[in-house]
Amino acid sequence: MKIVKIKNLVKKFNDIAAVDNISLEIEEGEVYGLLGPNGAGKSTTINMLCGLIRADAGDISIMDKSINKNKLFVKGNIGIVPQDIAIYEELTAYDNVKFFAGLYGFRGKELKERVEEALDFVGLLDKSKNYPMEFSGGMKRRLNIACAIAHKPKLIIMDEPTVGIDPQSRNHILESVKKLNKMGSTIIYTSHYMEEIEAICTKIGIIDHGKLIIEGTKEELKNSITNVNTTCIACTSIENIDENELKELNGVIGVEINETSAYISTSADVNNLDKIILYFTKKGAKIKNLEIKTPDLETVFLTLTGRKLRD
Ligand code: ADP
Repeated sequence: MKIVKIKNLVKKFNDIAAVDNISLEIEEGEVYGLLGPNGAGKSTTINMLCGLIRADAGDISIMDKSINKNKLFVKGNIGIVPQDIAIYEELTAYDNVKFFAGLYGFRGKELKERVEEALDFVGLLDKSKNYPMEFSGGMKRRLNIACAIAHKPKLIIMDEPTVGIDPQSRNHILESVKKLNKMGSTIIYTSHYMEEIEAICTKIGIIDHGKLIIEGTKEELKNSITNVNTTCIACTSIENIDENELKELNGVIGVEINETSAYISTSADVNNLDKIILYFTKKGAKIKNLEIKTPDLETVFLTLTGRKLRD
């Protein structure tokens, strides 16, 4: 069954299309990763999916029910972990989860069981009586996840859940996603960290400037650009290296330069390594390290957009 069907979705803010005609379908049992840089349109898509904001055009259905006509059904079947943590500071961890589970109609013994199970799942059962203000950012995020999953939704949506949190909580969250999926939930996970998406997602959609630019399994995405290699060159005097001049070299598809290194995507059919090295030498940049990388999701993004994923 298709858990999510999105068709020709559009949302504009002041004439700028934050979401520009996106269509996608998500099968039951999938961990679907929506990967894109900041500002790509991930949250706007998710917010329309959850019914938090209205689309300007397009249709969304969840489990074959249109979200506009079946609000209660949709709410009962999804769990949302929003980008901005949404918990009550004045309630204990236990009462936070109880509040959200209570909204779904659970009472008495079943409610208690659901709350304890959710807190246990995120590793906070021993902190049940503590207040969020005593928690680290990562623990708050985990509490937020407990609030979203206590009613055992079919679809769990997590919007950049690992931004700004400690590595331990980050690993905990990534493991939780895998476990929730094994237990039967379909997951939508947005991130601008390609390593996370690679590690946990069974299907990936790459989004940029409000458009879904490619979709598939990790292997399918990488195979789509087998004809591209990225040459990574670390050198001295990198300020002498000019992106546009490099792009003029035969076979160069995309270039990204940071303080220490240049990343040059090149068509694998063209052997231009000598020309690239010559260019660096001419510019007085001494090469300290050179590595030719086979495609990863970063390469996919760089090749399709000419830009890197990271800011
Ligand atoms: P992402 O989640 O991928 O970082 P967003 O969906 O938050 O991207 O944003 C997509 C674009 O829409 C950005 O250019 C952002 O500035 C703009 N945007 C998002 N929400 C609003 C809003 N409420 N008002 C105006 N512009 C917005």
